[in-house]
Amino acid sequence: MADPATDGAPRGEPAGWLPRNRRPFNVQVAALRKQAGTTKVEHREGLIPGLGAVSVVVPDDEPVVLDLTLSSYPGGITATGVVSATWSGECRRCGGPVHGIVAAEVRERYAPVGGADRDEEAYPLIGDELDLEPLARDAVLLELPLAPLCTDDCLGLCPTCGANRNTEPCECAPATDPRWAGLDALRDEDLQT
Ligand SMILES: [Zn+2]
Ligand SMILES: [Zn+2]
Repeated sequence: MADPATDGAPRGEPAGWLPRNRRPFNVQVAALRKQAGTTKVEHREGLIPGLGAVSVVVPDDEPVVLDLTLSSYPGGITATGVVSATWSGECRRCGGPVHGIVAAEVRERYAPVGGADRDEEAYPLIGDELDLEPLARDAVLLELPLAPLCTDDCLGLCPTCGANRNTEPCECAPATDPRWAGLDALRDEDLQT
């Protein structure tokens, strides 16, 4: 099946290449930059392949959605708003599927690269175009859960027989070593904070 994200990409261009007018995260800001204090609202959405960590990802066919206000200031552009995406992953206790939505609040700057007074904290503003994809990627990665649960009271897998204790109760004796039980509880607390 043809992949619309790479279909027609010129030789040598990376996967996900799109013609300039179809790059959903690129915004022209020449008009904003003409006068500091100008704002505009941008709604953009597009695909960001390979976004996620080991057990939690934003599927390659799920759009990342940006609702931002762009404002110019003398040194560049601020982008304020929300980046949201649907993620899927595996429950850390039972391995079952888990889904959720992240909605990350962002407040970031874009500034020209180069020059002695370069803003090191800002995303690069190249010419009069800014690319919202790195901002979207960073914001989503920060908000994705590290170790999700399918439900808060997921019973997990039986350590003895491997049965999923949510759906197939087994007859195995409970784990007897209290040291491990204590460690598990600590680990769960850690992961939840
Ligand atoms: Zn689970
Ligand atoms: Zn069992």
